[in-house]
Amino acid sequence: MHATATATPPVQTSGARALSAAIEQFDAAADHLSLEPGLRAILRVPKRELTVRFPVRLDDGSVQVFQGYRVQHNVARGPAKGGLRFHPDTDINDVRALAMWMTWKCALVGVPFGGAKGGVTCDPSSMSVTELEALTRRFATELEPFIGPDSDIPAPDVGTSAQTMAWIVDTVSMHRGYSIPGIVTGKPIAIGGSVGRADATGQGALYTIEDAAGRIGLDLRGARVAVQGFGNVGEATARLLYDAGARVIAITDVNGGATNPEGLDVPFLRRHLEEHGTVAGAPGTSRISNDELFALDLDILVLAALEGQITAANAGTVRARIIAEAANGPVNPDADPILHDRGIFVVPDILCNAGGVIVSYFEWAQNRAAIAWTLDEINERMRHQILRAAGDLWDRAAADGISQRLAAHVIAVERVAEATRLRGLYP
Ligand code: GLU
Repeated sequence: MHATATATPPVQTSGARALSAAIEQFDAAADHLSLEPGLRAILRVPKRELTVRFPVRLDDGSVQVFQGYRVQHNVARGPAKGGLRFHPDTDINDVRALAMWMTWKCALVGVPFGGAKGGVTCDPSSMSVTELEALTRRFATELEPFIGPDSDIPAPDVGTSAQTMAWIVDTVSMHRGYSIPGIVTGKPIAIGGSVGRADATGQGALYTIEDAAGRIGLDLRGARVAVQGFGNVGEATARLLYDAGARVIAITDVNGGATNPEGLDVPFLRRHLEEHGTVAGAPGTSRISNDELFALDLDILVLAALEGQITAANAGTVRARIIAEAANGPVNPDADPILHDRGIFVVPDILCNAGGVIVSYFEWAQNRAAIAWTLDEINERMRHQILRAAGDLWDRAAADGISQRLAAHVIAVERVAEATRLRGLYP
């Protein structure tokens, strides 16, 4: 007699889901390009991975061992580049996916970098500043053999900030005996950071949203917008859209959401978040969940939180005309055909959020040349660079009759493949 096994589906972490999404997107681009098997094998996996476990003394005197990662997906076009994420869901697969997306992002927008990502599995919201500084300094020490201005340049990401970067600069500089600001980007301006870097991802998202709106004949002034995520990227994007005259009717953060169909006062919500830890409950607003926000009657839905937010399960509820992917990987591949059938104009993540890494490149270049550009110079150069990439993308999608997501990956994979072919095999 056979025992009937109750099938328990394997529990997939969000990192594992992100990695399969990244690989699925790569495979689609490789198929479209009929990429030769050798190149496919090279580009489908990360080049180099580091996992470290390290102790940190917490404020109560106890010792906790943390796990951290740095993954360099590809360096064919230049040094590895990408952020460091401090989040409870950060794991090796998450970092692998994010590193691969960095390779494609840098190639798509034409910055001379490869792709990397790193992070620590931790919950920064439950740690004191002293604990975060100790964790960062020890993690920087563990990373030191792996990173450098010519090899791999970290930057802020979810759960990290300019302050995190300052601690990394200081730690590595203490070890070397001289200041080495070019080891990271996204630093505070006082120690070699660039003007415009703090808002760069939001600013770049705004430029690509303006471009997309122009293409579908949508006037940004008065356009109904909702923003999922109110951190480094979501706050800047919401504020810049508000300043541009859009009507931001809903915002969610990690602890809740706020909506007002007449339009939210975005600067006021930022102050509310600083004081209360969430936008939820702000006077003059009603509470809203992520799923309710996704289903609002909108012109523009900005996804500025984490990966895998729109899936086949909720894509059918989205009523926006434009989805702007200010986060990395917010739309799962199983949702793409549904959004396409609904006629939604998707601004893919590796374009929409590339303003951050473009201005990181400007910061790195300014550090090397020991010069400082003005905010106008930074924004104008970034606007030019991101809109040129947008133009390439829309042209390629039209010419090949493919989706905007596929076009983005096709252009990027093609450029990395070309670099790899030219460099040839060593030895
Ligand atoms: N973490 C950001 C991203 O995902 C910025 C990376 C960088 O500036 O290196 O694009």
